[in-house]
Amino acid sequence: MENVLPFDLSWPNLIYGPGPRVIAFVLNAQINSVRTPDMLKLWGYVSSSTCVLCNGNNCTLHHLLVNCKFALDQGRYTWRHDSVLLDIEQALLKLIRNFNSKKPACFADVARKEYQMSFVKAGEQKRKPSHRAKPKHALLEYANDWKMQVDFKDRKLVFPPVICSTELRPDGVIWSVLTRTVILLELTCCAEEGIEAAQIRKEARYADLMSLVSERKWAPTLLTLEVGARGLVCSKTFHAFVKLGFSNPGAKSLCRSLSEIVARCSYAIYLGHSSPAWPHNNDLVRGKNSETETKSEPLMVLKPDPADPVVANIVQLKQNGISKLYHFTDFSRRFKKNGLMSAHLIKQEISSTMNSSKGSRQSLCGLRELCASILL
Ligand SMILES: [Zn+2]
Repeated sequence: MENVLPFDLSWPNLIYGPGPRVIAFVLNAQINSVRTPDMLKLWGYVSSSTCVLCNGNNCTLHHLLVNCKFALDQGRYTWRHDSVLLDIEQALLKLIRNFNSKKPACFADVARKEYQMSFVKAGEQKRKPSHRAKPKHALLEYANDWKMQVDFKDRKLVFPPVICSTELRPDGVIWSVLTRTVILLELTCCAEEGIEAAQIRKEARYADLMSLVSERKWAPTLLTLEVGARGLVCSKTFHAFVKLGFSNPGAKSLCRSLSEIVARCSYAIYLGHSSPAWPHNNDLVRGKNSETETKSEPLMVLKPDPADPVVANIVQLKQNGISKLYHFTDFSRRFKKNGLMSAHLIKQEISSTMNSSKGSRQSLCGLRELCASILL
């Protein structure tokens, strides 16, 4: 497949990435050598290749990953889509925060520079454009009042009414009121062989909305993002991230993160294809950008509160109506024999007094193996 980025098989990803089973799944899925019902039938292990979920005739890897109606209706594909979208959202939030804190590039300045560069001094020849020349300004560079909304299954959003009114809900909308610019993002997690068809389908779907936005004197841009279900990200998706404003390494890193998420999700969908039960829809898979930071909680140290004076334990016991205190030891392994509350042990009760009684002191001092103290 030429239009996709290769899966990350670097040593760090092999060691610290999604794990050997997911990587093996991605590699086997690319040569269609996964234990799907159709392959098991071909290899002679089973007699039927029917899909357990939808009773479809031939359950191929393609059917299982993107084309099973039962899995679609149950939300398995939406779960994978939203997991990928969540990672994109988090990466974009950081990017937008960065651009919103900068002075925006002015259209007029950019145009003036390009105009001046088009002139050639007498006796000089026009320079050929270098392939290494800095790429054109990113879309987000022209403003610093960007807002973004992202549409999830459980967080459905309305298209910003300030732009126009529509029922359509692209996966992401980024807009700037000052420059009247809007960027629509549409994510598809399709089979790798269907990436181009998905691009055409999405462009056709949003063509009317694009013209409606233009009529309202806004400048629209539609970026379709395709992430293959076998874990391969479309190269156009990488270019779309660069066009938005990610640096090349940043876009590459994001694509790798999406690749890992989609591979983990597809592997889970593959593992779950033989069971109608699917309890994962509310647990999105989190990647490098979307994982929640787990800060280790500092150990709680109790400090005396000056407003709450320290009261002796024995006083507190009496205040709470506790009059008897029992000590249990395991000298003769009586717990094993009689249990904690044996009648024999209850005889060792010590009446609680302000000063420990002789019996209590003796029993405590002699106890090398204090096993339990139970308040009754
Ligand atoms: Zn099916």
